[in-house]
Amino acid sequence: MHVLVIGSGLAGINAALLASEFADVTLLNKSALEETNTNRAQGGIAAAITALDHPSVHAQDTIRAGAGLCDPQAVNALTADGAAAIDRLLQLGVNFDRAPDGQLALATEGAHSTPRVLHAGGDQTGVHIQSALVGRLAEADVDVQTGVAVSDLAIEAGRCVGAVTDRREAILADAVVLATGGAGALYRTTTNPPNATGDGIALAFRAGALVRDVEFVQFHPTALVNDGSAFLISEALRGDGAVLLDARGDRFMTNVHPDAELAPRSVVAQAITETMRRDGADHVSLDISHLDSDYVRHRFPGVYRGALKQGHDITAGPIPVAPAAHYHMGGVYTDIDGCTTVPGLYAAGECASTGAHGANRVASNSLLEAAVFSARAVEAVRGGPGPAEMPVDDIKTLRIHPQGCASSWHSLRQTMNDFVGITRTEDQLQRAIARFDEWSDLHEGSSDASLPLATLTARLIAEAALQRTETRGSHLRLDHPDTNPDWQRHSLWQLARE
Ligand SMILES: Cc1cc2nc3c(=O)[nH]c(=O)nc-3n(C[C@H](O)[C@H](O)[C@H](O)COP(=O)(O)OP(=O)(O)OC[C@H]3O[C@@H](n4cnc5c(N)ncnc54)[C@H](O)[C@@H]3O)c2cc1C
Repeated sequence: MHVLVIGSGLAGINAALLASEFADVTLLNKSALEETNTNRAQGGIAAAITALDHPSVHAQDTIRAGAGLCDPQAVNALTADGAAAIDRLLQLGVNFDRAPDGQLALATEGAHSTPRVLHAGGDQTGVHIQSALVGRLAEADVDVQTGVAVSDLAIEAGRCVGAVTDRREAILADAVVLATGGAGALYRTTTNPPNATGDGIALAFRAGALVRDVEFVQFHPTALVNDGSAFLISEALRGDGAVLLDARGDRFMTNVHPDAELAPRSVVAQAITETMRRDGADHVSLDISHLDSDYVRHRFPGVYRGALKQGHDITAGPIPVAPAAHYHMGGVYTDIDGCTTVPGLYAAGECASTGAHGANRVASNSLLEAAVFSARAVEAVRGGPGPAEMPVDDIKTLRIHPQGCASSWHSLRQTMNDFVGITRTEDQLQRAIARFDEWSDLHEGSSDASLPLATLTARLIAEAALQRTETRGSHLRLDHPDTNPDWQRHSLWQLARE
């Protein structure tokens, strides 16, 4: 059996390692192995691992934050498999931080009702996970090819039988696992690396798979913004007591939500955006300088050093922060075993929509999702279930033609920032779609395999955001500010068949 894995983050490498126990495996990655969202993760990975916590409590917290769109089955799979996923990461060599008594140290983050976030190297969890995985990959029997972008999936008689690369090479496989990560780099201001361009969604969509809830893009409330590349200031700082201040130096979150700075991300991000607009400022301030500076340096070494590089000492006073595109809740529709609706095609990690996050992701659940569902997908590959059944119930399926390629990365990102950003209106979304229409004839033009894919994913996000005429979770429509119970349903998109 030959398994092709696309992507080298937590989902991709975990899938490749597990599949190599019973199959020949090829792992393709369009950049360097470490250029992943995984490598950038700071705060940690959530799991109910102590007697004081329980997967069902973790599930309740997750569902509460998901604004009515979590799939309870997927949430249960995520939280029930959490402890096993942590055990596996420990076995793979991830050195999670420990308390003085030797037990795994657990932090609290927004929306978690109890401390359950494991971290490594303080706020360097992603670097530790990525390097442990890359180390194991080097020892494993996996054909690893970097600098190779997948530009299409190979489909024969409705089944995925491999992929085509930007070198025009076809790689045949019995099973293909998409682990292509997020879509933050569709935006000009993002915490993601530039290669996080949502390719997997477009690849799967073009292959006929369903994609779901792509309008839900999470903007991280607090990033040190510097000419587009935004350095993430982890939520864990707010978990430890950092406060947000407006231009006058006053706390504003206490007037917005009972959980103040630890309110759900969309609430904090919108409040920051409104405060910036009110104050005519391009940032608000985040202050943790009231805590002991040695503690802050030790607990957040990555943030401390990263901010210092940009001229800001977090131990000395408030630093300027603003929201940035961060995480994509929507993605390729999968069942709880990572099966898409196309036979032979599986998806895991941020590119998938398992239903575990609903309309808003809880901090530190995404690394867990990548670990849990990549393992489940490989079990499905081994055991042969799939494809996923087409969802029924109260779901509306919309169809779209996959056409066009933006004239440049700059125009695509600027369009997404300007018209499909943290808050949206019908007028803005129509303007974005008009621009996509203008690009419809440019599809032959790009030599970059990812640009046409990114353009399609961006268009899907804009179309889905236009359709959802309500505000829910991370999707904030200024012209439809209320949550509409009629919209408590997923949006599903499929390629229009001629
Ligand atoms: C700054 C930051 C901090 C974060 N902090 C946390 C945190 O503390 N806790 C948490 O749970 N989550 C956090 N997240 C989110 C989390 O890191 C990601 O959701 C998760 O790591 C995604 O893993 P993945 O394996 O799905 O994708 P990634 O790790 O992003 O890997 C995707 C891979 O796919 C490859 N790829 C993409 N397209 C193609 C193509 N066409 N052909 C070939 N290869 C391709 C990319 O090169 C990349 O290697 C954070 C994210 C960021 C950006």
